[in-house]
Amino acid sequence: MQPLKIYNTLTRQKDTFEPLASPHVGMYVCGPTVYNNAHLGNVRTFMTFDLLFRYLTHIGYKVRYVRNITDVGHLVGDGDEGEDKIGRMAKLEQLEPMEIVQRYTNDFHRVMEDFNIFPPSIEPTATGHLIEQIEAVQNLIAKGLAYESNGSVYFDINAYNEAGNDYGKLSGRILEDLLNETRELDGQSEKRNPLDFAIWKNASPEHLMQWNSPWGRGFPGWHLECTCMSAKYLGNQFDIHGGGMDLKFPHHECEIAQAKGLTGTDPVRYWMHTNMLTVNGQKMSKSLGNSFLPAQLLSGDHELLDQSYSPMTVRFFMLQSQYRSTLDFSNDALKAAQKGFKRLVNGLRIVKTLEYVAEVGGTPDEKKQADIEQSLQGFYDGMNDDLNTSVAIAHLFSLLKYVNMLYMNQLKAATLGEELFTKLKTQFVIFCEDVLGLKEEPSEGSAVLKGMLSLYREYKAAQQYDKVDEVRSYFKSQGLVIRDMKHRIDWAYEE
Ligand SMILES: [Zn+2]
Repeated sequence: MQPLKIYNTLTRQKDTFEPLASPHVGMYVCGPTVYNNAHLGNVRTFMTFDLLFRYLTHIGYKVRYVRNITDVGHLVGDGDEGEDKIGRMAKLEQLEPMEIVQRYTNDFHRVMEDFNIFPPSIEPTATGHLIEQIEAVQNLIAKGLAYESNGSVYFDINAYNEAGNDYGKLSGRILEDLLNETRELDGQSEKRNPLDFAIWKNASPEHLMQWNSPWGRGFPGWHLECTCMSAKYLGNQFDIHGGGMDLKFPHHECEIAQAKGLTGTDPVRYWMHTNMLTVNGQKMSKSLGNSFLPAQLLSGDHELLDQSYSPMTVRFFMLQSQYRSTLDFSNDALKAAQKGFKRLVNGLRIVKTLEYVAEVGGTPDEKKQADIEQSLQGFYDGMNDDLNTSVAIAHLFSLLKYVNMLYMNQLKAATLGEELFTKLKTQFVIFCEDVLGLKEEPSEGSAVLKGMLSLYREYKAAQQYDKVDEVRSYFKSQGLVIRDMKHRIDWAYEE
């Protein structure tokens, strides 16, 4: 089998994946800043790393997956000046900043669950790691890589590069070009060099989120949380760091500088970045009016949408393209995905009903056997080639053809032999459900079932087991089973 290869932004090539301490894998993904509803770009990024998490687990790794929640320090404009995104929303809505954080964290989790995206192993927050961040600032000052200025502390790019480092190596930016792009006037800045970035910011009295520090009242710089939390839970060096490609610069570049400044080691072995979404060929943006929320896609409530699309249709649609290519949303493409997903999920339903029947004198069909083996292998080869889901799904559809033939009795199980028949049956389900995270969706009109399921959750939380049994038997009467899984409660057709 081909080894797993991952396109590494740092080396600009597909590198063979070799974890530092196999079978353990450490993976960090920059999570959302929770000041508004999760958008579709978020969904694509987190679905990509969900796929990687699932696939690594499937091929035998034990993954510790850390995905943070940014709940302080991310400023409007993504730079060192301006209001805190969450603080700004809190003022607008006259709420406590943590109410904003809670509201949009809940929304984010609901959206992740809708799209069958697993929760990470650890979901740390920036405000939960202020002590670590203040310590990191102190250490960087002690190492001569940061300096205080008017109660703020800045990372010193010149000092970092003079110590033999290379700021800009991830994104391929050249220092002089960056300097030419900045427009700060001499003598007007607290910074020694316009490229220096804040690791601690002095807070004015009206700034909502602020804490005591050795430099006065303030708050941490946006880039610092990821450095501190990844090191805390995954070590000074770990395997995979992911995020959307818009985070490559400056966020990830700054993460590398901070971590390398603190420990002397490059923090990450494989940097992975997901590509953008477009709508009808145009960049998705609020100002163009073509940016819609996941909920709008699921309800069809947007002028650019002809109809609603189910979460699994959207998931299937997104996975049809490899994560490094741009993904274009259009009604035609979504409708095609809806058809494709229906065919696939129909195969998923019937494959579970297939049974092997031995036939005396049944002759093996070697051509078909070889074809099935090739497609089973092809799925892995696709996934191992930098998660090329487009190739993997094409092989899945080749397998689907045989599943349908078996079901329609156009192909006798005996001609495949019991071993290959069983392999086809089990692998088909594993590829769909475990690896791609695609599952059968209860048909429309399932509002009653949804309501019953949330009742079940409540009864269960309140330990009212007699009522739990009652709901269970209701589901059974509908031909469904409730499944209590590690992270959540779901339903499925009875097997
Ligand atoms: Zn980050």
